[in-house]
Amino acid sequence: MSENFYDVLGVSRDADEDEIKRAYRKKAAEHHPDVSDDDDAEERFKKIQKAKEVLTDDEKRQQYDQLGHDRFTEADKRGATGGGGPGGGRGPFGGGAGGAGGFEDIFNQFFGGGGGGRGRRDDRPRQGSDLRTGLTIDLDEAFEGTTKEFTLERPTTCDTCDGAGHPPDADVSTCRQCNGQGQVRQVQQTPLGRVQQTSTCPRCEGTGETYSEDCADCGGDGVVREEATLSVEIPAGIQSGQSLRMEREGAPGENGGPSGDLLIEIDVDVGERFERDGDDLRVEEAISFPQAVFGDTVDVETVDGTVEMDVPAGTQSGETFRLKGKGMPHLRRRGRGDLYVQVGVVVPDSINEEQREALEAFAEAGGEDIDVDRGFFEKLKGSF
Ligand SMILES: [Zn+2]
Ligand SMILES: [Zn+2]
Repeated sequence: MSENFYDVLGVSRDADEDEIKRAYRKKAAEHHPDVSDDDDAEERFKKIQKAKEVLTDDEKRQQYDQLGHDRFTEADKRGATGGGGPGGGRGPFGGGAGGAGGFEDIFNQFFGGGGGGRGRRDDRPRQGSDLRTGLTIDLDEAFEGTTKEFTLERPTTCDTCDGAGHPPDADVSTCRQCNGQGQVRQVQQTPLGRVQQTSTCPRCEGTGETYSEDCADCGGDGVVREEATLSVEIPAGIQSGQSLRMEREGAPGENGGPSGDLLIEIDVDVGERFERDGDDLRVEEAISFPQAVFGDTVDVETVDGTVEMDVPAGTQSGETFRLKGKGMPHLRRRGRGDLYVQVGVVVPDSINEEQREALEAFAEAGGEDIDVDRGFFEKLKGSF
């Protein structure tokens, strides 16, 4: 029977983030393996760390509450609760649980060390990070689907040294700062007592080796920035805020690992005429008073051409009609949304003599008493 994360931290189910963080700090200080004498202090500390990680992340906490402890933990092991975090589909806790690097990672996080430092010499291939960019297209392009060429600056493996950071004939020697360990230890005084902090060696950046010469092009990073021109196919029906993923177009991996992905967030500039609501479009159409009274067939310009729309007799200003299937295409499936046409009856701001007489006669026939001299449509109030 595993203990749920709320109990681990000793907070209630509706605790807010501040409460959780406070409880975490208290518990972590109590159970830190350097302070606690318990045999299972390290295990305990990991649990506390994990409880805090899940409960202070809105998305994870929601999943946790929905799934319950056991199912969440299972899903988590399978990497199914990853969400959209960096690194895409990989599990949310990375290499944190057990095995190489596990405890040191936690250690570094707890004391605010690390900050991306790996803390241990590590030659495993790692996938590069995902990069993000944005593209704006107009409504027609979103309707038809399009191919867009764009340019971005991104890191790429240095050609000169093939990512090594040094010329192939440079002399290699063991890093003097870390004695080849790739990491350095510092003893720190903290409120919890003396603790040893481990971080990636700044001199060799964790490789344990230094070279007599850095690569002239990348200065030892193994990575340079390049301007890349790419072309992305944008599917019809895409909406603002949706992202397209170009696999392996992100930052280069380390130690021979694959590149990350490039995520392109699309912004659709809908323009003046339409309003977009998912796959539906909305538009306003002006009709005249006689059209509203007698009914008529009017031309409506849609996103792909003009169609005829029947306005029934007795239509009220502000009424909305639906033109089925005249909206935007559904993304990656057949069919289209609808076009909603809201008609507005337009009152003319000037009329000729003939119209004026006709309208006066109309009013009279309806028993309306209008003082046409004082104001066109201003009705008389009370007695004459
Ligand atoms: Zn070193
Ligand atoms: Zn280089």
